[in-house]
Amino acid sequence: MYRHIEYYPGDPILSLVETFKNDPRPEKVNLSIGIYFDDEGKMPVLESVRRAETARAATPAPSPYLPMEGLDAYRSAVQHLLFGKDNPALAQGRIVTVQTLGGSGALKVGADFLHRWFPEVRAYVSDPTWDNHRGIFEGAGFEVGTYPYYDPAAGVKFDEMTAFFNTLPEHSVLILHPCCHNPTGADMSEQQWDEVLHIIKTRKLIPFMDIAYQGFGGDLDSDAYAVRKAVEMELPLFVSNSFSKNLSLYGERVGGLSVVCPNKEEADLVFGQLKFTVRRIYSSPPAHGAYIAADVMSSPELYALWQNEVYMMRDRIRAMRQKLYGVLTDRIPDRDFTYFIKQRGMFSYTGLSVEQVRRLRDEFAVYLLDSGRMCVAGLNASNIAYVARAFAEVLK
Ligand code: PLP
Repeated sequence: MYRHIEYYPGDPILSLVETFKNDPRPEKVNLSIGIYFDDEGKMPVLESVRRAETARAATPAPSPYLPMEGLDAYRSAVQHLLFGKDNPALAQGRIVTVQTLGGSGALKVGADFLHRWFPEVRAYVSDPTWDNHRGIFEGAGFEVGTYPYYDPAAGVKFDEMTAFFNTLPEHSVLILHPCCHNPTGADMSEQQWDEVLHIIKTRKLIPFMDIAYQGFGGDLDSDAYAVRKAVEMELPLFVSNSFSKNLSLYGERVGGLSVVCPNKEEADLVFGQLKFTVRRIYSSPPAHGAYIAADVMSSPELYALWQNEVYMMRDRIRAMRQKLYGVLTDRIPDRDFTYFIKQRGMFSYTGLSVEQVRRLRDEFAVYLLDSGRMCVAGLNASNIAYVARAFAEVLK
């Protein structure tokens, strides 16, 4: 009956997590998966979240289905965070947002919607990108190409990338990372974004910005620079956002898909079809995480507390980058490690070869992805000296 079914070898990142779990060596360090751990190596429960949870738990309530589009208070909170409360496009009613199952759910709903209404167009992801971008867009029926992005010396291959964008046909979908590029940590400057958005406008491309690390690069507002600039330039923008990392609510699946439209009439059409897309996949989103996120974002006190907590996570990651840079520069002075401090967000492209990554895993129990991507947020005061020593050994 099922012999014809193709074997699924597993997801490379999730399989590595399993291998790590089963590794008996006590010194092991997991720098593979994109999860923020605190200085004790634990996934944090944010105080802002804890207070919102406690308040909700005090008044148990029934759990009816949410509407297809999700919780109103949550959807407004997403809009305010991404676009800024006073964005005129919000007052004009031309931005629609649906609550989704994490950032992945937002990508899926957006990709299904786009493929249905723009069936001829192709989607393009950065080379490299988070693997599931390709998976989700191909899963929605797209042919997916890549655009040049990463340059180990300059960070972003800006000229090659913009030259490529200038060759694309109208309505091509570009999946872009507004901040904290995964996996490279190499971001564009604001000036570079302005240029890219100008090309997008001229060539009538469709930007699809995926923001999963807002607040981990610069701050909550500056990380949304590209998003807000695209709205100001009246581009037909798609934004998928995720609270998995910045609220540390991975398992609750809290995300959102926003579509910026030319006017309210078209926004209403898009909103209807987004709801229909949701209805045909999972009908309605989960409630708990959305209530918690909305409670945190809508209380001035909890919001201020949360903002502080996000910046503490960001600063800890930056401190780890600085420390690793310092130790490695001391040990191998003729090699340039400035990329560790230039890259932003949770990830760093280390430039290690597959062989070096395997040596780190086999000889030192330090786990990175084969691509050389390291999750900097897995470093802490107790393991950084060990990791730096292991890096220095394999780099020598
Ligand atoms: N987009 C990017 C760039 C990511 O790195 C991730 C998660 O690692 C996601 C989307 C998915 O977010 P979520 O876990 O909320 O589905």
